[in-house]
Amino acid sequence: MSRPKLLALLGVGLAAAALAEEPRPLAIVIHGGAGVIDPAKMTPERAASYRAGLAAALDAGYAILERGGTSLDAVMAAVRIMEDDPQFNAGRGAVLNHEGDAELDAAIMDGHGPRAGAVAAVRHVKNPVELARLVMEKSPHVLLVAEGAEEFALEQGVALLPRGYFRTEGRERELEEARRAESERLHAASLPGSGTVGAVALDAAGHLAAATSTGGLTDKHRGRVGDSPIIGAGTYADEACAVSGTGQGEFFIRQVVAYDLCALVEYRHLTVGAAVREVIHEKLRHTGGEGGVIALDRNGNIAMDFNSVGMFRAARDSRGRRDIAMYRDAR
Ligand code: ASP
Repeated sequence: MSRPKLLALLGVGLAAAALAEEPRPLAIVIHGGAGVIDPAKMTPERAASYRAGLAAALDAGYAILERGGTSLDAVMAAVRIMEDDPQFNAGRGAVLNHEGDAELDAAIMDGHGPRAGAVAAVRHVKNPVELARLVMEKSPHVLLVAEGAEEFALEQGVALLPRGYFRTEGRERELEEARRAESERLHAASLPGSGTVGAVALDAAGHLAAATSTGGLTDKHRGRVGDSPIIGAGTYADEACAVSGTGQGEFFIRQVVAYDLCALVEYRHLTVGAAVREVIHEKLRHTGGEGGVIALDRNGNIAMDFNSVGMFRAARDSRGRRDIAMYRDAR
C-alpha cells in the first residue's frame, strides 16, 4: 500500500475512533408554566415546593436518558410527574373552566419520524400525556378530542376518573376570583392560569422529542382548546429542534410559534437561542402575546426564554448543567 493511502486510512481510522469515544450529548429541559405567581407573592415555602416539583420531573426524565432510554420516554415521564403534582396547571390541580371542570389538553411529538399524538378537552383522564402517546402509537390519528378521546382511552384500557379528582381548593378559589373579575378580565391581557407543563429532550441516539400538558385558562369557555395540543403551535419536534411553549395559547396558535421557531433553526440556520429570542421577544411581543418557550437542538444546545414576569423552568445535560429557575434573574 502506498504511503499516502496508508496515512489517509489511518486518518479515517483515528477520526472514527475519536467519534466513537465522544459520547453524544444528553439533555432535558422542562417548564412549569409562564403564567407564574407574582414574585412579590411568592413565599420561600412555595418557591421551595415548586423547585422540588420541577427537580423531581427533571431528574426522572434525565435518569431515563442516562439509562439509554428514548427522548420520548423522558419527556413523557417528566410531564406525567408534573401532571400528578397539584401545584401545576396539568392533570390534578389544573385550572378550571367556567363550569368548574378541569378540561385538559396535551400533546407529544417524536422528532424522529416525525410522529405526533394529542388530546384536547378531556375531563376524566389522569395523565393526558399518556393518552396523547397512545393516540400517536395506537391510532392512525394525531388529535382526538373530548368524549371521542375518552372513548379511545377506554378502548386502550385507560381508566377514567371522576371529575372531582382534578379539582383542588386553590383552583376553585382562582375560578371564583376570575368569575368576579370577569368583565374586566375579558378585556385584560392577563396571563391564563399558572403552571402549564412541558418538556423537550435529546437522547443518546440523537433523537429529539417534545411534550406539553395543560388545563389551559381559568374560567375558559367549555370546549376552548389552547396551543398545547396543536402540533406546531405549543408543541413541536423534528430532527433538528424540539419546542414546548407556555403562555396565551391563542397567540401561540395564530403565530404557529413552536414550528416557526424550528423553521428559523432549519431554514435561516439560527441557533436555538437566537430563534427563541426572535420568536418570543420580537414576533410574539409585537402582537401583544405573552409567554415563553423551552427549546433544544440536536447538539444539546438549550434555550429557555419568556417575555412574561417569569417562567418556571429547569434544565439538565450530560455536560454537567443542572439549573432550576423561576424569574428573570435565575431565582
Ligand atoms: N398555553 C396554555 C393555553 O393557552 C396556557 C399556559 O401555558 O399557561 O392553553
